[in-house]
Amino acid sequence: MKILITNDDGIYSPGLLELAEIASAFGEILIVAPDVEQSSMGHAITATRPLSYRKTKVAGFDAFRVNGTPADCVSLGSYHWDKVDVVFSGINLGPNLGNSMWHSGTLAGAKQAALLGMRGIAFSTPSQKQEYNFSHIRPYAEKAIEYLLTMDLNLVNVNFPFSPEGVCWTRQSVRQYDGVVQEAYDPMGRKHFWSTVIPLENSEEGTDRWAISRNLVSMTPLRLDLTDEHQFNRLAGPVDLAVGSGTSS
Ligand code: MN
Repeated sequence: MKILITNDDGIYSPGLLELAEIASAFGEILIVAPDVEQSSMGHAITATRPLSYRKTKVAGFDAFRVNGTPADCVSLGSYHWDKVDVVFSGINLGPNLGNSMWHSGTLAGAKQAALLGMRGIAFSTPSQKQEYNFSHIRPYAEKAIEYLLTMDLNLVNVNFPFSPEGVCWTRQSVRQYDGVVQEAYDPMGRKHFWSTVIPLENSEEGTDRWAISRNLVSMTPLRLDLTDEHQFNRLAGPVDLAVGSGTSS
C-alpha cells in the first residue's frame, strides 16, 4: 500500500512525524508537506505563482517540503508518486470539528485526495500546552487506521481526544460560532485584528464535537457533494423564471 502523508502545520510538526511512524506499519510512505504552517488555509490551491519543493528527511523518512498548501502537496505528491492508495493528513495540532472543517487545511489535504480519485483520511487532536505527547492516542490511531483501511470510504475526518476511551461514528456538528474580530495594538501602536472562533451553542448529540467532549474518538464519513438534498428534492423540476419571454412588465 502506498500512503502519501501531508498536513497543514508544516513538515516539521511533531504530529506529522507521529502519523508517519504509525502509517509506516501499514505500507510504503512518502511525506509531502508544506514548508511553513498553512493552518486555516482551507482547500486553497496555489494558482498564481509556480510551486517548487526541496527534498528533506523527516526522522529517516523520505520527505518533500513544498512552498504551497496542503491541497498543493497532495497534487504534487500524487503527480510524482504513481498510484497512491490513500492520503493521510495530520495529525493536526488542534481539533477539526464542526465549523472548523470549513477552514481546515488538514481536512483539505484529505479532500484533495478524494477529488483526485484517491482515498483521504484527516487526523486531528486538541492542542496541548506542553511538549506534544501522543502516547494516549497512538493505540487508537493504529486501530482506527487498520479499521478504516478495510472500509469502503473515500473521505473520513478523524479527531482524537487527548485521552480516548472509545471510538464512534459521528456527524459534523453545525452549530455556529461568533466569528468576532478582536482589535488590538502592536508594540508600535499600530492597530491589528484577530479572528476568534467561540461556539455559540452546546454540541448536538451524535456529532463530532459531542464525541470529543465524552473522550471518544470521532470518525465522520464525508462526501464532496455539498448539495442540500432536502432542498434540491423540494425544488427539483423546471424553474419558471420567464426570462426573455416578454411577459414581464
Ligand atoms: Mn493545523
